[in-house]
Amino acid sequence: MNHSELRVDEIRAYKQEWEGFVNEAKQTRPNILAVLNVYGTYEQIHSFRLLFQNSEGHIFLERLYHILDEPLDKGVDRCMSELEWLGPNITLALVDAPLPVEYCPCCEKSLANKVNLDVAEKILAR
Ligand SMILES: [Zn+2]
Repeated sequence: MNHSELRVDEIRAYKQEWEGFVNEAKQTRPNILAVLNVYGTYEQIHSFRLLFQNSEGHIFLERLYHILDEPLDKGVDRCMSELEWLGPNITLALVDAPLPVEYCPCCEKSLANKVNLDVAEKILAR
């Protein structure tokens, strides 16, 4: 979506959501969970995704890392430093097997695998 298509109130709403997210991420016990999605096979991981969700399942931010952009270990280092920078107290959950790449049937954007709400609540309640 092009930014010029957004109305002023929509831009303001996105801005407020983003600022709320960044502020929540810095808290001692943030209501935000970081989730790592890994794609490929055990022999060859080709990409991974870092997403930030809350206990209601809302995704605030997704970051993609691909081996065509940089070596895998460098991507992992960059991912971890971004997580540390955004919210050092955020718990990182790992979807522990390589995932198939699935696309949204309407816009063909690749789909993120969130942590189920009951699991997210359990992790965040610790
Ligand atoms: Zn879509």
